[in-house]
Amino acid sequence: MSASVTTITPADPIAVGRRLRHLRRAAHRTLDDVAGAVGISASALSLIENGRREPKLGVLTALAADLGTAPGELLSPAAPSRRTALEIELERAQRADSFPALGVPAVRVGPRLPTEALEALVGLHRSLAAAQTERAATPEHARRANAALRERMRLADNYFGDIERAAEQLLAAVGHSAGPITRTVVDKLAAQLGYTLVHVTDLPASTRSVTDTVHRRVYLPQPEAGQSDSRSLALQALGHLVLQHQVPADYADFLNQRVEINYFAAALLIPERAAVPLLRNAQAEKDIAIEDLRDLFAVSYETAAHRFTNLATRHLELPVHFMRISSAGVIYKAYENDGVHFPTDPTGAIEGQRVCRFWTARQVFERPDRSAAYQQYTDTPSGTYWCTSAVDRTPAGTFSVSVGVPYRQVKWMRGRETTERSVSRCPDPACCTRPPAELAQRWEGKVWPSARVHSHLLAAMPPGVFPGVDDTEVLTFLQQHS
Ligand SMILES: [Zn+2]
Repeated sequence: MSASVTTITPADPIAVGRRLRHLRRAAHRTLDDVAGAVGISASALSLIENGRREPKLGVLTALAADLGTAPGELLSPAAPSRRTALEIELERAQRADSFPALGVPAVRVGPRLPTEALEALVGLHRSLAAAQTERAATPEHARRANAALRERMRLADNYFGDIERAAEQLLAAVGHSAGPITRTVVDKLAAQLGYTLVHVTDLPASTRSVTDTVHRRVYLPQPEAGQSDSRSLALQALGHLVLQHQVPADYADFLNQRVEINYFAAALLIPERAAVPLLRNAQAEKDIAIEDLRDLFAVSYETAAHRFTNLATRHLELPVHFMRISSAGVIYKAYENDGVHFPTDPTGAIEGQRVCRFWTARQVFERPDRSAAYQQYTDTPSGTYWCTSAVDRTPAGTFSVSVGVPYRQVKWMRGRETTERSVSRCPDPACCTRPPAELAQRWEGKVWPSARVHSHLLAAMPPGVFPGVDDTEVLTFLQQHS
């Protein structure tokens, strides 16, 4: 009969096995007895009962007949008893791909395992699975967390008073009153918190800094010659300590902490107390420029631009927007409270979206001189904006950093006399996303571009409390340095 060579594929061999064992024991029969009756070895039946072998249909039919049940009964998904259901669930959990990573031994699921212990183990596996689901940052989870964070920043006008105060107190404690935050001042700030900054050449590649809270050291990368200094990284690491961050509970928490330490570092590099009078003065002179903040506080254009957005609405009553995009036009970071419409995905996230090619942030890449900031007026469906943009070359690629204000606020900004103008009709596809009809027709069906994958934006967030950090590498590193 052909049926004897057909291997059935039941939905769950564990459930079939448990059901068989339940029936055999209920009939007070031994493995040898039942195996002999259907013409297989006792060890083969044991494998089937343990769910480690799928019975062939012929064997299944014979077993059912011998145990006085129908083959369909054996395949039923419902467990014959509560105890069996628990056994099946524990077996399943212990055979899951994720089980070995837990580093705990598997428990033998047999009659000698007390039901109480079985209940407890199953309960633990259930809550572990729930916690892992909670923590697993899928791309969608990450996008939602990003969107929620941007909303929080928007509602606060990107100004966080408690972080400003924490930064100010720390500066006051080391007696810093004016002037740029030099490396020496950074060392003093660390010392004030009881920490030493150690620059190393072997910092784990998956980290930006590593803090050893036992020996009270912050390990930082050795600044490369000609590259921007490591002050920001050091101050961000100190930010975790000052802001009393706990181990992040989930990805959203991790993102919030990142924003807060970034803010904290910027608030130390460009102190509110020093920057606000300068900005107010510039506003009175109708001469506000990001470059001035950059030069006066010896920071990067990005830090100056970002810091401007913290203070502009709160202290100058200026609504603003900020963005950092790649040379391909893809958003890495953006913020607005001036009504500019960033492109969004259906979850409301903007990271990874491409901005209009007529925006200042993209037009700046077309300029012959990329060393100077570029200003432009852009008419958009939500109004006219004036923006200033600068190109930032990094080891990770070329980016543009832009700050913009609505037309009615441009009177305060240096560079408003620019005659550069552009019109953006995005999200209307006819603006810049849909190719011109003539070109589209000419090339229809004749082109096959191979896409570059934005793996950092699309992949699920790496697992772990600190996403993407290689724990083994970090602990080995700490051990070597302690
Ligand atoms: Zn466009």
